[in-house]
Amino acid sequence: MFRVLLISILLALVSGLTVNATVPVPSLKPGVESAATAVRTPGRSPGARYFEGRTPFPVLKPKAMVKPARKPVIVIDPGHGGTDPGAIGARGTYEKNITTSAANELAARLRKSGRYKVIVTRRNDSYVDHDDRLRIARMGQADLFISIHADSAGNKKVRGASVYTLADRAKGRSKRIVNNQNWILDVDLSEQSDPVGDILVDLAQRKTESQSDAFAKILLKELRGKTVLVANSHRRAGYYVLLAPDVPAVLLELGFLSNAQDEKLLRTKAHRTKILSAVERAIDAYMAQN
Ligand SMILES: [Zn+2]
Repeated sequence: MFRVLLISILLALVSGLTVNATVPVPSLKPGVESAATAVRTPGRSPGARYFEGRTPFPVLKPKAMVKPARKPVIVIDPGHGGTDPGAIGARGTYEKNITTSAANELAARLRKSGRYKVIVTRRNDSYVDHDDRLRIARMGQADLFISIHADSAGNKKVRGASVYTLADRAKGRSKRIVNNQNWILDVDLSEQSDPVGDILVDLAQRKTESQSDAFAKILLKELRGKTVLVANSHRRAGYYVLLAPDVPAVLLELGFLSNAQDEKLLRTKAHRTKILSAVERAIDAYMAQN
């Protein structure tokens, strides 16, 4: 009797295992992939919903797949570098050295705050192509891109900081880059014919432009009183690093290396700290608004 009981218990266990093994175990990965596809192409084959409808029980997202609250990404771009020294100062200061120091000091400040994910396009004295600087910003999903430079002018008396945002006239160039490099914007261009694609670039650009302008204004407000500003300190230009239509971007000129006083100041960490703490306050204020 005991032996029969034991055998039936074993049989029950084995059959239980077999039943368990045939229960379809939903794979979580395809659902997530479909969800990503559905986000990219709204209105087309919502694969995620179809997949979930066929699963016998609700799919729980494992922890790793739940999107964590994301820190804003700040990309800092020290101008020039390597074979490109940039402007050369009255006393022989290389712009690339000032921008490297300023970028690394700003990155350290922002990282210390713990509020941001910080990416620097180059850390040491190396040459980074303009395309690569933009690629780093876009791949890092930058919320803000700050290119750091120091100015130079024929008139040695001109001094002060300024902030550049993208000029209207450069927007055609921006569209060409999007098309040539097959960038995918938040608005998906792949299914669109060219004229519609252009409108979508315009839409992305308009939002980015107003964000860049907003940051430039805040930044100048914070810089005022901390360092000398040039007349018309908010300027517009077609600088390549400002061309990404979906990354709010400014180019900060710290001062004029061609001016002896500015050059002397920019070589000191204390003066750079004054400027960079204003930049940090501007980033905080901008991020609080967005
Ligand atoms: Zn420069």
